[in-house]
Amino acid sequence: MSNNTIALLPNHVANQIAAGEVVQRPSSVVKELLENAIDAGATHIKLIIKDAGKSLIQVIDNGKGMNPFDARMCFERHATSKITSSDDLFALTTKGFRGEALASIAAIAQVELKTKRADDIVGQHIVIDGGKFISQSECQCSNGTTFIVKNLFFNVPARRNFLKNDQIEQKHIIDEIERVAIPHTDIHFVFQSNGNDVLNLPPGNLIQRIKSLVGSYIQKELVAISEDTNFVKIRGYVSLPESAIKSRKEQYFFVNNRFVKNPFLNHAIYEAYKDLITYQSHPRYFLFLEMDPKNIDINIHPTKTEVKFTDDKSVYMLLVSSIKRALGKASAGPSLDFDSEMSLNIDAQSENRILTQPKVSYNQNYNPFNSNTSSSSDNSLQKANKQHWETMFDGFKNTQENTEVVSNNTKQNALEELKSESVAFSFFQLNKKYIVTTYNKNVLIVDQQRAHERIVYEHYLKTKKETKITSQQLLFPEQMELSANDFTLIKGLTEEFRILGFDFEVFGKNSIVINGTPSDLKDFKIIETIEGVLETFKLNTIDSKIEKHDNLCRAIAYNTCIKYGKHLDEEEIRLILEHLFNCENPLYTASGKSIMMEIDYLDIEKYFKK
Ligand code: ADP
Ligand code: MG
Repeated sequence: MSNNTIALLPNHVANQIAAGEVVQRPSSVVKELLENAIDAGATHIKLIIKDAGKSLIQVIDNGKGMNPFDARMCFERHATSKITSSDDLFALTTKGFRGEALASIAAIAQVELKTKRADDIVGQHIVIDGGKFISQSECQCSNGTTFIVKNLFFNVPARRNFLKNDQIEQKHIIDEIERVAIPHTDIHFVFQSNGNDVLNLPPGNLIQRIKSLVGSYIQKELVAISEDTNFVKIRGYVSLPESAIKSRKEQYFFVNNRFVKNPFLNHAIYEAYKDLITYQSHPRYFLFLEMDPKNIDINIHPTKTEVKFTDDKSVYMLLVSSIKRALGKASAGPSLDFDSEMSLNIDAQSENRILTQPKVSYNQNYNPFNSNTSSSSDNSLQKANKQHWETMFDGFKNTQENTEVVSNNTKQNALEELKSESVAFSFFQLNKKYIVTTYNKNVLIVDQQRAHERIVYEHYLKTKKETKITSQQLLFPEQMELSANDFTLIKGLTEEFRILGFDFEVFGKNSIVINGTPSDLKDFKIIETIEGVLETFKLNTIDSKIEKHDNLCRAIAYNTCIKYGKHLDEEEIRLILEHLFNCENPLYTASGKSIMMEIDYLDIEKYFKK
């Protein structure tokens, strides 16, 4: 008997392991299949999914098809028709080249392939199940290739359990479709999900494609970029500074028509907008860089969204200058003279925000000597010591001690008392960012934005079906166009939005009509606000599971709270402090960020003893 302990992994096990790198979720399969169809020269590509791709992903293309041998071979690892030597890596013009995708997908799903070349009389039908070859036979089918991928991760339950809910998985899928559909405007893409048409993108030019994905309003917000050097060509669109948005959506870089992420180039864009947009707002861009493949190394990341250039500094400089020039031409450039402090995201409409009166319940059972230092983002861990904080503020002592819900009326009285009480304690605003005050000789520094975010969050969080916020009807209902992605999301959140006082209805393809909003948001630009809320909502779901209502409350709070840079008058400061100390948890924002800092008087004494 041999003592050897090392053996080569069986092929299907190796493929399953490799699959972990290529296929993280249904959208990874979508990406690979769409890219293969494009590489095969298809002009029409249809994607059909069920249950966000968990039970079915089907891609039908009219590309060149495969012969019987290739049809079988394509599922082998490192089987590719796209490169033959490592030199080819530096002259890539196709999306795929590693020859890993199909082997990996077949290892973790039930896969069927039907394919036929235009010159063949019959097509080929192949069935593979969890990496096991089942059958190959002749079949009738149209020219091109169809891949059917069923029950993804059926044999890797750990991966299957790791998948997020359908809404999130579908969002990833739409992201992938957008990333291939934007650069390939000559290809007709159709996308159906659970039997519904989600996208139909007929061939056209770039701006038409962008409009059909984002909404036609986008056209008037974009400026064309075009720059030619012998090293790189840049073309595409960037947004006008005045239409910058609060989220980072619609930021696309394509290098040789491949979607890439490159923080360095992203930085170049922000550099070009530096004095034109406010802190916390973001330009949109759809930019295409074209350069000799030998100056690019795409292969540094297995899923190939990262890219390295041999001369990235030149690309950086060129980007900055061409964007600046284009914005200048659109007379958005130098003529705009933002006062940098004023531009700190101060919404004129938030002037009155602070006078909103949150209804806050009072937790009588709370143990004042317990856990007031948790910084976890978990709500239940954030139970702060409300009473403790309250007693610190003798000035606020006259607010409710025993009431369940502080009524607006009493609040008003408390407010008046606060006003009349000639400064029981002193406070001031520091750098339009912090509120500095004292208690028991200690110094307390409160972050104004986070404090108000907490107040607004709790205000909305209290609402339930029974106690829904009444919405104020808009004089002129507003129509809002959304991306396919956001449309799916907002449709799924209609009920949650309704409870919070938002009244809207679906109005045609990818758009809604907003009829009413919560009355305290009546002075906000409602479309922008909803856009921001959806963005934050999505961000919040990336690495944690938060219940929808809670998430929406967080997103609304984040997007509507007063911001840094807003001057607060004395009354506003008092109100913020009062509302804050009536919160269940005045110490941390919902996402676990500290709201206040305390400097111990004894530490101050100690310092001056030295
Ligand atoms: P890669 O794309 O990296 O070459 P894949 O595993 O994705 O590797 O595909 C393997 C091979 O199968 C491709 O190189 C191509 O020759 C063939 N192939 C895959 N999809 C299609 C398709 N839709 N139409 C024609 N050929 C295809
Ligand atoms: Mg491929």
